[in-house]
Amino acid sequence: MKNKMFKKIASVAAISGMFVMLAGCNSSLLKETEVEGAQRPIIIQGPMPIEAEYFAGKLEKVKVEKSGKFVFYKGKLNNYPVIVTKTGKGMENAAAATALAIEKYDPIAIINQGTSGGHNPELNVFDIVLGERTTNIGSLKTTHMDEGQGMDPASWIPMDLMASEGSGSDDSANQVRYYYGDKDLLTAANAVKDTYTKGKVVEGTIGSADFWNSEVDRIKWIHEIYDTDVEEMEGASVAQIADAYDVAFLGIRILSNNKTNGGTYDPGTAPANQAYVYEVVKEYISMIKNK
Ligand code: SAH
Repeated sequence: MKNKMFKKIASVAAISGMFVMLAGCNSSLLKETEVEGAQRPIIIQGPMPIEAEYFAGKLEKVKVEKSGKFVFYKGKLNNYPVIVTKTGKGMENAAAATALAIEKYDPIAIINQGTSGGHNPELNVFDIVLGERTTNIGSLKTTHMDEGQGMDPASWIPMDLMASEGSGSDDSANQVRYYYGDKDLLTAANAVKDTYTKGKVVEGTIGSADFWNSEVDRIKWIHEIYDTDVEEMEGASVAQIADAYDVAFLGIRILSNNKTNGGTYDPGTAPANQAYVYEVVKEYISMIKNK
């Protein structure tokens, strides 16, 4: 009996010893921001080099960190930590770069920005859309057609993969899921609207998928079903991951092209958008500091 008791005490001691070791280990793995006891950084994402490097060049005290193909330019703006990420193009790259950034840096907010193609004929190349809503326009269900009946993309319906954890014929999945832009980020963006002189700045809906649409009737169909103002290839995946971790998110997209009104592609829009987003971030930082 005594012996048994002794064994029990010994094993409890061993287990608690392990916990102490684990706790020690954990502290060395603490997120950088916690170790520094500093402010939580703001993440600014751009898919292509022309959509990230201009902003990165405006940061102070930059250190470059890489993880896989993702590049993080860690620096300061008005003495506040800001990390520009070159995510690469497309939904998968953007999602991975977002999850990594959240786990590594514990950001207070994420802005996904870059170029886009117009769905709204009232918007011109160099106009900017603030993503009041962002949605995945490539998540779709087809109707049933037998062999030989062909394909009918106009009859496809939006599919919300986040509606449930199950599969099958759940009607709640037959809908568009919108992610809403963070209110404080939108306030900051609206507050500096007038600093942008190359076009209009409007609130609207950003649609994302791994495709580049140049069929005007298809663009019109997406515009009707999803109420999109622009399309690009990253925002909705970033919004989905930011939402999963409850991190503030906003998409800010400049039109670099617009098939619906003949607006031809202009790469000069990429730095123009970053210059505007720079003003937005400065404003957001002053909002945080005054809180
Ligand atoms: N034009 C290139 C593809 C570039 S990918 C080619 O044909 O190879 C386009 C990048 O710019 C993506 O990161 C996307 O977010 C953005 N983009 C700009 N205009 C777009 C449009 N009309 N449709 C989709 N993405 C667009």
